[in-house]
Amino acid sequence: MSSRIAIYPGTFDPVTNGHLDIIRRAASLVDRLVIGVSTNAGKGPLFSIEERIALMKSEVAALDLPAGNGIVEIRAFDTLLMHFAESVGARMILRGLRAVSDFEYEFQMAGMNARLNPGVETVFLMASESQQFISSRLVKEIGRLGGDITSFVSPLVAARLADKFAQERGESAKPARRGAVLDRG
Ligand code: ADP
Repeated sequence: MSSRIAIYPGTFDPVTNGHLDIIRRAASLVDRLVIGVSTNAGKGPLFSIEERIALMKSEVAALDLPAGNGIVEIRAFDTLLMHFAESVGARMILRGLRAVSDFEYEFQMAGMNARLNPGVETVFLMASESQQFISSRLVKEIGRLGGDITSFVSPLVAARLADKFAQERGESAKPARRGAVLDRG
């Protein structure tokens, strides 16, 4: 049987515990999991592609996946998703599904991708109950306002976010505030 190769594409700006949960579960299902980090200039990411790749590498290494799991590799891509899937020989595009709000976009994208290449299946993993509210966008919003993001991202990602927000405020880098609540003022 040919090996099962899947890609897990995303912006990962930055990688959250929700993404890592999907990666950990997906790695046990396939022979090779290619995490495709989209350059996605259109979304105006906070972290550069190099930073997002470096963070993802550290986070995946820290997962310490058990032997017998698929090989996990991380690559940048700036092409059409289906072209990227074809270039790595993937038969599967993996996506995480959170609440109903993810559904419509994902449904459309899966449908369009199926038209582009019916030989590549889009497969969805439901977000774990404890991670389903986490989104990179909200992590950034909460972190920027000084809220506690430590249950959504790793300590490394929290520290990098704190550096970014300090830079935005024109300060030199300083450690993340802990235990602060969202300041709506
Ligand atoms: P994109 O810009 O492609 O949506 P993201 O980095 O936001 O990239 O997300 C990548 C994938 O991970 C998407 O399939 C998204 O639905 C999924 N995802 C994001 N957050 C979570 C989470 N908390 N639990 C499960 N899946 C998630």
